[in-house]
Amino acid sequence: MRIDCLTLFPDMIRAVLEESIIGRAIKAGILDIHYINIRDFAQNKHNRVDDAPYGGGMGMVMQPEPIYRAFQSVLESAEDKPKVIYMSPQGSVFSQDKAKELAKEEHLVLLCGHYEGVDERILEEIVDEELSIGDYVLTGGEIPAMTVIDAVARMIPGVLPAEDAYSEESLYNGLLEYPQYTRPPEFLGREVPEILLSGHHENIKKWRREESIRRTCLKRPDLLQDADLTDKEKEFAELCIKENV
Ligand code: SAM
Repeated sequence: MRIDCLTLFPDMIRAVLEESIIGRAIKAGILDIHYINIRDFAQNKHNRVDDAPYGGGMGMVMQPEPIYRAFQSVLESAEDKPKVIYMSPQGSVFSQDKAKELAKEEHLVLLCGHYEGVDERILEEIVDEELSIGDYVLTGGEIPAMTVIDAVARMIPGVLPAEDAYSEESLYNGLLEYPQYTRPPEFLGREVPEILLSGHHENIKKWRREESIRRTCLKRPDLLQDADLTDKEKEFAELCIKENV
């Protein structure tokens, strides 16, 4: 998958993405990430890319022309029309389902705003969709873009060692993941649940499924209405909620 980030702070995104699992996926050629500095497309003496808002008010607004030129430079080397996403607190809230959906795209362009945001006309002209990472306002779209890239990249075959690595994880199947343990078997008097040491794979699978339902009931009961549960599991969930265990 190719991803182009249109940003005023390319080094900020690069520094984070080129580490660890995503960094390895880039090196392996599974992900092709481009960091486009919008400032390189300013055409004035001081490389200014923002100006005061028409109508008055606080802060500065990113001008449409440098963003447009930066986007055109992406199109010049693109094979097909990419999906263009503006990171914005006004967008629909990003989710695991959205990450799965975006992982099927060939080419994404993520536009990161700054200051008071971007001139509305660039949104009308190039943007397909606005995405928010939550109901709060950040200073720029770089952290949201990194969040989206990380979550999407994990869904691309080959980025994680095995599909199992995410298919049982929280939210992928509408439930939270079961509790995880590793060595040592006892820590400060707390023991690892015996069943996990039993080597009985069927029983472990059953236990994990129940724990997954149980903790979804306790921590995120709102998820249950869309979770894929059998009738028996629904009864179990109702019991967990009623008895708060
Ligand atoms: N004035 C804008 C508004 O009220 O909608 C907020 C601008 S914010 C200070 C600057 C930039 O940060 C935005 O253009 C956007 O790219 C990014 N941003 C801030 N919060 C975000 C969020 N929750 N999700 C995605 N992007 C966000």
